[in-house]
Amino acid sequence: MGSEVKGRHSKAIHGGLDPEAYQGAVSVPIFQTSTFAFPSAEEGAARFAGTSPGHIYTRLGNPTVAALEACVAALEGGFGAAATATGMAAVSTVLLALLRQGDHVVGTHPLYGPSRSLLEKHLERFGISSSFVPATDGAALRAAVRPRTRLVFVETPANPTLDLVDLKAAAEIAHEAGAPLVVDNTFAGPHLQRPIEHGADVVLHSMTKSLNGHSDVVAGIVVTRGPELLATIRETARSFGTTMDPHQAWLVLRGIRSLGMRVERSQENARLLAAWLERHPAVAWVRFPGLASHPQHELAKRQMDGPGSVIAFELRGGVEAGRKLMDALRLIVLAVSLGGIESLIEHPASMTHSKVPADEQLRQGITPGLVRLAVGCEDVDDLRADLEQAFAAVGPI
Ligand SMILES: *Cc1c(COP(=O)(O)O)cnc(C)c1O
Repeated sequence: MGSEVKGRHSKAIHGGLDPEAYQGAVSVPIFQTSTFAFPSAEEGAARFAGTSPGHIYTRLGNPTVAALEACVAALEGGFGAAATATGMAAVSTVLLALLRQGDHVVGTHPLYGPSRSLLEKHLERFGISSSFVPATDGAALRAAVRPRTRLVFVETPANPTLDLVDLKAAAEIAHEAGAPLVVDNTFAGPHLQRPIEHGADVVLHSMTKSLNGHSDVVAGIVVTRGPELLATIRETARSFGTTMDPHQAWLVLRGIRSLGMRVERSQENARLLAAWLERHPAVAWVRFPGLASHPQHELAKRQMDGPGSVIAFELRGGVEAGRKLMDALRLIVLAVSLGGIESLIEHPASMTHSKVPADEQLRQGITPGLVRLAVGCEDVDDLRADLEQAFAAVGPI
């Protein structure tokens, strides 16, 4: 793919593709090999010395994985990318690469639960401290910076409240402190939001979600703005063994080819459902960046190309109503995760965020009756009908 390609669909479809290199193959081949033969001892030495670009061993690099990395780096507008075994491998690799004993991290909340516990439970053991401020509060973010703050970690839209972080403001605060801004861009994905354009230094993804999009792989990736951070992160991934397998890379690449079409269709479904839910008598309120009622609707329009396809809503009748609703659904699947072609629903307070203490849940905006609906690519009339029959099964409030 030439650098003249600008469109997001074209980048997703052609990124990493080089038929001439592989006997005309239009699908990137799976290089299912752990190791690569050297044509001579001299060439082997040159590859280890880094003076020849050839491959050595799959943990250190593999052509199928490299094709996926090129594709996602192009989509994010980054210098390059390092693919990882899971989304959490991407998070842990970035933190392990950029922090040392005595350092401090400022994060926003809510943050993906395991990311937060990685910081609070595990990195704490190695003498790395962290503080968390509300996603929407730029002043609190600035106030939380300490002399040893070496990394600012944000997630926007945040899970599950769909609060937004102002990326440009966060980048300014991080850079004034001499720290990189790291953005978990899993929720929006590069089709709708490219944090590097707003000043981020490192962007990471759980490709388990919309990038792969078919709920059949777990995978992650880290994209950087420049070469130095990429070299550090790649070296860390190789040392800790958080790198990706070629078969996994091929599956994700296959999923990415239709990223834009899936994202746009599910987003259109979500827009229609969010507007319908907001008028529904069984629903107390709806949180969706595409609705004028979202407190940061203007920011969403500024930094995103669309609101995405995850809707949070609060049922009248709280937890009990939520439980009944989820058991009554027939088409929408009761499961965690998001960004797949099928619609999934879950109850954060008892599922994804159940390890967060109740008072802390409330502080983060995770109310007891909050339901997270990750809208998929089905026909919207079928999704609406499924929700309607489930609301009826919940009964009068
Ligand atoms: C799912 C998810 C992760 C973790 O990804 P895995 O692939 O499950 O390891 C990290 N961040 C966000 C926002 C996620 O949704």
